Order: sequence, then structure tokens, then C-alpha cells
Amino acid sequence: MTPLEEAQRLVLGACPPLRPAELRPADALGCVLAGPAVAQVDVPPFANSAMDGYALRAADTGAAPVTLEVVGRVLAGSTLGREVGPGQSARIMTGAPLPQGADSVCMIERTRADGATEHGRVVVEASVVPGENVRAPGSDVRAGEVVLDAGAEVGPTQLAALVSAGCATVTVRPRPRVAVITTGDELVDPGTPLGPAQVYDSNRPMLLALVAESGCRALDLGRSADDEDELAGRIHEALGRADALVLSGGVSVGDVDVVRMVLQRLGGEAAHWLQIAIRPAKPFSFAALPGPEGTVPVFGLPGNPVSSAVSFELLVRPALRAMAGHRVTGRPRVWARAAEPLRRVADGKTHFVRVQLAAAPPAPGTGADGGRGSWVVRPCPGQGSHQIRSMGLADGLAVLADGGGAEAGEPVEVIVTNPALAPWFVGAP
Ligand code: AMP
Ligand code: MG
Repeated sequence: MTPLEEAQRLVLGACPPLRPAELRPADALGCVLAGPAVAQVDVPPFANSAMDGYALRAADTGAAPVTLEVVGRVLAGSTLGREVGPGQSARIMTGAPLPQGADSVCMIERTRADGATEHGRVVVEASVVPGENVRAPGSDVRAGEVVLDAGAEVGPTQLAALVSAGCATVTVRPRPRVAVITTGDELVDPGTPLGPAQVYDSNRPMLLALVAESGCRALDLGRSADDEDELAGRIHEALGRADALVLSGGVSVGDVDVVRMVLQRLGGEAAHWLQIAIRPAKPFSFAALPGPEGTVPVFGLPGNPVSSAVSFELLVRPALRAMAGHRVTGRPRVWARAAEPLRRVADGKTHFVRVQLAAAPPAPGTGADGGRGSWVVRPCPGQGSHQIRSMGLADGLAVLADGGGAEAGEPVEVIVTNPALAPWFVGAP
């Protein structure tokens, strides 16, 4: 049996980051910057008001309350077109450029209108200091400064930072296009009544969703019968359209385990068929096959639904994230205490047990939250590799090293697969 780490090294060695591309920031959402993004303009581009109020000269307000002449009004998107002189002010709205001559803004709540607001007088009730309520040009980022460095992922707020800094394009690793093909004569699409000996093809929607959840572009290339020539044809199509290919089923030692056979045929020396020292998901095929734009990693996952999901988590997800240039390729991990025994037998393999996570109940004297970062873990009912429902109930996979497992109260490491819980564990040791 091949240790998991060795299988992961083999895969990662064949999955270098994709070649960088220049994209508009909006098209780069979900991508990782391959180089620093440099601000083209100051942010903000000009001195502007942080408040609705009156632009004025701070020196005029030393003896507040004072009455100032109001010489005009400046709204966001317009300019005053004249100077604010001594003893004068201009009504100003948030985001409007600070007029010439003014050095500060008194917020409206500290003023009292004295007659008409636009061309009248205003009573400033509190003194202000120079620069008060003024947002200086470049106070967020200066032109020429790095907005976001290589390695940063473009999310919604990063997108806003890039757009505000005038970055017309950014250099990113494109999101990998990942094709999914399932195999199996027994499979039918959801929505069709099941015939005798048939099951629904649940791996295809699952793998497509896992691909998408990994930040990649999922490409549904359908299902192949357990037929070598049909599968070879579909693989050939995928090599021309995708950066990576995920196959499901047919990697075991059965009579029609076509994925193993076809990858061997197409890949020769470059094809690997491994028995990985893990449970579930022991059999695994991998080949780096030539495509028109370079080598395409092809993953052959076992067909049992839980095995498919677990091998995706352990072998495919990190590889796809590496291709996309992510620094963090794995799921978050957390240590939790076993709420009940997680027993197993020694068999030379690492076991991945579907578990639910819950916040630990408060320990006496530790305060209401039970102490930060305290979690307990419980196995889900049904740990067979065909029992996908229990994967659907799970928050994560407990990692049980070879041996007898964990007794109640013992610490267990958990790979957190529930994205709703993951934010709790980012940065956890
Ligand atoms: P295989 O790896 O092809 O030998 O399949 C192992 C088991 O997983 C069999 O019980 C298959 O029916 C089942 N299986 C294979 N592919 C899928 C799939 N796409 N969706 C659901 N079950 C599958
Ligand atoms: Mg099969």
C-alpha cells in the first residue's frame, strides 16, 4: 500500500500552477494574483469631505460659536468653482471635493443655519482643527503602491480595492477548468425511474459541485458506459477542453474497471494505479496525459460515493487549488475531543471517519462560552463507503491513525468539510 503522503506528493508534482493571464478585476473573481496589483490612481483621488457639513478655514472657528458667510454648495460629483475665503464657508456633502481655501469640514450637527443655507450665513458652534473630516488623497492607497500582493485571492472586497485603485487588468492564475466524467453501466440520471439493477449517478453532480466549491470551473462531460473505447473518446474530448479531469468509478480490480485499463492504455508509464493506505478510498488511478495546451492531470476516483468524496478531499482538492495558485490548498483542520469512543481496528491504514462537530459544553468555572476553541466530535451513523447520507450529515472527517482509535475524551484531529463551519477554524492550529 502507498502512504497517503506519497500519493499526494505524486499528484502535486504533476499539478503546477496554471500560466498567468491578464483579466479585468471583475473577471478575476475567485482567482489568485500571480503578481502584485499596483494602484494606478490615488485612493481617494482628491481631498473630500467625510461628512455632510460646511467646508471652512479651521482658523476661523477658534472662537466658536462664530457666524460664517455661506458662499455656495458642493455636492458629491461636483466642484464649487470658487475659493472659500476667510470668514466664509461652503455647504458640502460627503464625498464632495474640498473647495480651494477650505482646510476642514464642520459636521452639520455642530452648525445652525442662519437664514438660507446656500447663500446665507451659518453659525458654527464648535471649533474644528485643520484636516478635520477631510479624507486626504491617497489616504487609502497611493498611486504606484501595491494594492494587493501576489498570492491574494480576489474576493468581493479585494475586487472593490482593485477597481477603486484604477487597476484595469490584473495578472492572475486562471480558475482551472475541471471536467468530470462518471462511469458505470448501472447508473442513470436523476429524474428517471430506476430499472432493476440501476442506481442514480450521484457522483457526477457531487463531483461537479466539489469542483465548483474548490473555486474551479466545472465542466460536465457526461457519463461513459463501462466500455474502453467510449471512455477513451470522452477522455480525449476532456483533454482538449479542460485543465484537469476527474473520473469516477472503475479503478478497482473488477472485470469492467475500465478507468484503470484506459488510463494505463493512454498513459503508459505516466499512469499510476495505487492502493493508498487509507479507508475509505483505497484504490486510486492517476495519469498526467498530454493535452493541446500542456499536461492534463487525470484523477481516477473510486465509484463508491463516500470513497469518491474522500479521495476528492484528500487528493483532488489540494491539487486543483495548487493549480489555481492558492497558498492554502487544504481544508481547515481542528482538534476536538471525542464525545464517545471512535474505535477502529489496526489494518495498516489511516481511517477517515465521518463526524459531527459541536461546541463543547461549558466546563465548570470557564465562563459561558466553554472556553474558546473547544469542540467535541461524534461519529455519524453508518460508516460504509456506500453510505453517502452520513457524509451529508457530517461536518468533517476525523483522522484516525492506524491503531485502536480514540476513547471518549481523547483529542482527535478533524478535517472540516462543512463550509459553514470552516470559518470558525481558519487559523486553528
Ligand atoms: P466502481 O468503483 O465502479 O466499482 O463502483 C463501486 C460502487 O460505487 C458500485 O456500487 C457502484 O454502483 C457505485 N457507483 C459507481 N459510480 C457511481 C456514481 N457515479 N454514483 C453513484 N454510485 C456509483
Ligand atoms: Mg463501475
